[in-house]
Amino acid sequence: MIKISLKPRKEESLLRYHPWVFSGAIARIDGKPAEGELVRVTDCNDNFLAVGHYQTGSISVRVLSFVDEKIDNDFWQKRIVAAYSLRHSLGLINGTNDTYRLVHGEGDSLPGLIIDVYADTAVMQAHSAGMHRCRNIIAQIIIETIPTLKNVYYKSESTLPINALSSESENSDGYLIGQYAENHIATENGLKFSVDWQRGQKTGFFIDQRENRELLQRYSGDKTVLNMFCYTGGFSAYALQGGAQKVVSVDSSAKAIELTNRNININFPNDKCHSAFADDAFKFMSQSAEQYDIVVLDPPAFAKRLNAVPNALRGYQKLNAAGIKKVKNGGLLFTFSCSQAVSRQQFRLAVLSAAVESKRTVRILHQLSQPADHPVSI
Ligand code: SAH
Repeated sequence: MIKISLKPRKEESLLRYHPWVFSGAIARIDGKPAEGELVRVTDCNDNFLAVGHYQTGSISVRVLSFVDEKIDNDFWQKRIVAAYSLRHSLGLINGTNDTYRLVHGEGDSLPGLIIDVYADTAVMQAHSAGMHRCRNIIAQIIIETIPTLKNVYYKSESTLPINALSSESENSDGYLIGQYAENHIATENGLKFSVDWQRGQKTGFFIDQRENRELLQRYSGDKTVLNMFCYTGGFSAYALQGGAQKVVSVDSSAKAIELTNRNININFPNDKCHSAFADDAFKFMSQSAEQYDIVVLDPPAFAKRLNAVPNALRGYQKLNAAGIKKVKNGGLLFTFSCSQAVSRQQFRLAVLSAAVESKRTVRILHQLSQPADHPVSI
């Protein structure tokens, strides 16, 4: 295995189990590792620190283990069993829920790997060249380890760094194991969703909103609910389940609206309370004066990079000002940002500015986050 030695004192973060080696910390690379190749990292006195996947770029190594061990079938199995056991002990895998995130990158000590499970299908997404190289063995191990899984779909074309693929011809998305099952349905908290991982966004569904949808359900009894950026209708289905008297779903994508209608129909075949519109959010919210008891704003990421943050904050302010106007007095706003580059505090200030701009009194009742199947390495 190629060895990477760090500059003096650059071992400190690894000794605290930080799972990345930045390029600036490296003193010497003994050899020329390929994209995604396994490397050994040592301190300046040749003491072992970690083993991980090499990649060119500012993060040079993503650590797989801080123990001097072989990265073989046993290793992958241990990691997958640990990830599965956590979800199982959290009570996420049962008769009313088979939709969960099985692997959440660093949070499961598997940097660069995301795996979402929808009933009998796992959708795997590699964010690093190293995980891309390991995709077949990981697929094999998850099928062997998790009795309910039959298919593994690989979806990494949009998440892999470009140079991760140059060394291999076989790089396109597709089934690593199994095949497409017609009318595939995943169950989340007893609600059924048709998930299209091949054409849908991310791995097909936004599992990270599960508990926030449950909260909406809890507050929806007899309420009118406007679900902006509805995608496949997750929040809308929960609102109906909670007894909402009227639910309006809006998304700019016609395909998303089609899927929303389909998902509502699967769960509430005789429903007369739901309607869905393919429209731009700002246009929809400004075209009538109608107000709702509850408004949900769950837009796509406005800032994917740091340099986009100022514009994104202006965007969040504008959107939330428009959203607040649609909330009746005494009503609720569920507002979200999935921009990694925008901090909780920045987002809160953007919503504060929106409240001031709208001349409405706004209080925070809940501060929401992602559920426990998206663990964050401390
Ligand atoms: N709330 C959803 C996830 C939202 S993802 C859920 O729980 O599953 C963001 C959605 O915003 C996407 O479906 C995208 O089509 C939609 N979108 C993007 N720009 C939009 C716009 N200007 N107006 C309305 N919808 C938009």
